[in-house]
Amino acid sequence: MARTPYVGGNWKMNTNGVSGVELAANVARAADDAVQVAVFPPFPYLIRVGEALAGSGVMLGAQDVSDQDDGAYTGEISTAMLLDCGVKTVLVGHSERRHVIGESDELCNSKVLKALSAGLDVVLCVGEKLEEREAGQTDAVNERQIRAGLAGVSAADMARVTIAYEPVWAIGTGKTATPADAQDAHAKIRTLLASMYDQSVADGVRIQYGGSVKPANAAELFACPDIDGGLIGGASLKADDFAAICQAATASAV
Ligand code: PEP
Repeated sequence: MARTPYVGGNWKMNTNGVSGVELAANVARAADDAVQVAVFPPFPYLIRVGEALAGSGVMLGAQDVSDQDDGAYTGEISTAMLLDCGVKTVLVGHSERRHVIGESDELCNSKVLKALSAGLDVVLCVGEKLEEREAGQTDAVNERQIRAGLAGVSAADMARVTIAYEPVWAIGTGKTATPADAQDAHAKIRTLLASMYDQSVADGVRIQYGGSVKPANAAELFACPDIDGGLIGGASLKADDFAAICQAATASAV
């Protein structure tokens, strides 16, 4: 099945009001229709970045979301607040939230369900730590995080879910999974989705690769049959690099 490649730029806790708007304007200028593009700026810049993206087709995303509607949750951001800012999609379970902040599979699932019920799209991030890879647990970790993260998600709602496979040891380290290793993990994730739902759901879900993707390695990763674009951290902060990665995704779609 032909899936439109999807490239996301996760800006993490980087940029400021001025540089974020400038970066967003550059991303908007470079975007083309063959690839779905989203950017995930820091919360304070969502509205200004959204304005810079207006009319471009680039989706505005948020790096996280609360699983609660409102109330005494200091520092949290609700789905209603994100929708108010023009957000269309959210990251859930990024490795820095799982392993630095300590989010559990259960909390990630609660966030996925809350976001989908509010009408937001979701990018569910999964991936193994180095010690898990060395212990041969890559597929088991992905399976656990996906089964737990998607518990209660209907087949219909899977049309609004993207999986980002991001081996933790490759994020921000300059180390990238080989295309063969990444393809193997992605193919197993798709097989898992077919067993949880059915083949047509599995064939429709975009599975992004994330972990030190750069212009130099994007093309060979995106050429793999089960890699449908990427979730990009460091390289998404440089407009030219991000544009080159999006072009590699465009080329993979042809
Ligand atoms: C990420 O933060 O999701 C990521 C993949 O980061 P980087 O591209 O910097 O490894």
